[in-house]
Amino acid sequence: MKTASHKKIAVFPGSFDPITIGHADIVKRALPLFDEIIVAIGVNSVKQSLFPLEQRMDWIRKVFHGESKVKVESYEGLTVNFCEKKHANYLLRGIRSSADFEYEKTIAHLNHDMLPQIETILILARPELSSISSTIVREIIRGKGKVEKFVPRSIAKDFK
Ligand code: ADP
Repeated sequence: MKTASHKKIAVFPGSFDPITIGHADIVKRALPLFDEIIVAIGVNSVKQSLFPLEQRMDWIRKVFHGESKVKVESYEGLTVNFCEKKHANYLLRGIRSSADFEYEKTIAHLNHDMLPQIETILILARPELSSISSTIVREIIRGKGKVEKFVPRSIAKDFK
């Protein structure tokens, strides 16, 4: 059994408003790399979410039900402070486009400056999932369209 300090713990931060099949795919593909993945919802007082925090957390819990390596948490403030508190040395992010890459590169460098032991692991979106974003899903919901196929099957009925 690995002790806390030897465990490979990654934080996957985001708004998950709501979680999509793109997010779920990144977590699933990252599972073999880590002992634990904390899907962490950053609570931002300025950025207004469509869905309440508890609802977003519940959906993520449902999606990863039975997957003991995945934990769901929320945090306020800087992501690196949360990582330090959780003894997580890895930050996981998904890349859909070159715009994502440029953004993630800047953030990864800043995070590394603030917390040198943090290593950002970027996983490329699968081509067929790379157009899916929570923003698009929210737009479709606002327009009263169907989003079932963009959210994981285990929670799709909540979007009917
Ligand atoms: P944020 O509010 O920080 O942008 P999101 O909840 O939108 O957070 O996304 C969290 C992470 O998931 C980000 O790294 C984002 O690039 C990644 N992501 C979002 N959608 C997809 C997708 N379709 N495929 C791969 N990664 C994705």
